[in-house]
Amino acid sequence: MPIISSQEIRLASRPTGVPTKGNFVLAHTVLEPLKDQEVLVRNRFMSVDPYMRGRMNAVKSYVPAFEVGKPLDGGAVGEVLESRAKEFKPGDVVTSRHGWREYVIASAQDLQPIAHVVQPLSLYLGVLGMTGLTAWVGLGLAQIKAGEVIYVSGAAGAVGNMAGQLAKIRGCRVIGSAGSAQKITALTTECGYDAAFNYKSGPIGEQLDQAAPDGIDVYFDNVGGESLEAAISAMRQHGRIIACGSISGYNNEGSPPPGPTNLFHITTKRLTMQGMIVGDWLDRQAEFQVEVGGHYRAGRIKNLETVVDGIDHAVDAFIGLFHGGNIGKMVVKLS
Ligand code: NDP
Repeated sequence: MPIISSQEIRLASRPTGVPTKGNFVLAHTVLEPLKDQEVLVRNRFMSVDPYMRGRMNAVKSYVPAFEVGKPLDGGAVGEVLESRAKEFKPGDVVTSRHGWREYVIASAQDLQPIAHVVQPLSLYLGVLGMTGLTAWVGLGLAQIKAGEVIYVSGAAGAVGNMAGQLAKIRGCRVIGSAGSAQKITALTTECGYDAAFNYKSGPIGEQLDQAAPDGIDVYFDNVGGESLEAAISAMRQHGRIIACGSISGYNNEGSPPPGPTNLFHITTKRLTMQGMIVGDWLDRQAEFQVEVGGHYRAGRIKNLETVVDGIDHAVDAFIGLFHGGNIGKMVVKLS
């Protein structure tokens, strides 16, 4: 194996509020020779995701906290360069949890092979990856039906655009909110949303009432806060809320803001609110990839993504998530 020098991003300090570049450092490492059962992978794309913000705090959660001074990790898709494990050979395309670095030496069991590769490889981080699976699982849990009205917040993001596109395929009327005029146009022209509004342009409740004057059946919550409160008010009887994410609060410091003031509607309207973590649903990944891969190949689903070039811009891409810097899945191209 030739000597390989790889760049990786490490956590330099724990962020306070919105992360800054100073919380991270780009470091160089030289890879060790391969041992038995190890595989050398060159990452082609890596994912940046809002949940990583929570892992930067020193708190116990559903995923372990990142350690200061150590490289970050997260979703990545890459190509095998060399293998000392019989399961993999050079040229194989694999996904892993070893993002935030250009090259990785991984044990064979930490790599997931991709059998029938579809290009671009970034699809395996978005449409056919973790965020696509999140949207697909969430809609399944909500048991959406044709003719129902669904509201998706964070609608132009990775999970949100897929939730909307899949709900349209299933015959729903789909309403979305996002944070810029460009995103609103993308939702209605590219993702098939029936209506969309800019949550920064006025009270969310009023804008939602205009878009859905007869109320909503399902709310796919990526944002929390004011969007959640507005959705609870707009819900019809027996409505369902999928609590997927709450990005409006991820950078809060100090005491958390008060929760929705209208939770009693959950009782009076007989609502259901269900939380989900995509990692609990990996056994459905094959089924998801067959169904959603079929939609993608048939042209029924568009791949919306924002591609940032180079590991030296990975931190900008990550911070950009909290400033609305992406349409669709935010990915970093590594080579
Ligand atoms: P996105 O691609 O949606 O990126 C984040 C987007 O969130 C930004 O582009 C921005 O768009 C929006 N945003 C940022 N700050 C705010 C704010 N204060 N209020 C409203 N919107 C804001 O990320 P993902 O699709 O990957 O994730 C979406 C949500 O789903 C997140 O909450 C994430 O944590 C959650 N998630 C949950 C999973 C689970 O298993 N439960 C799995 C994956 C994601 P805009 O311009 O519209 O403001």
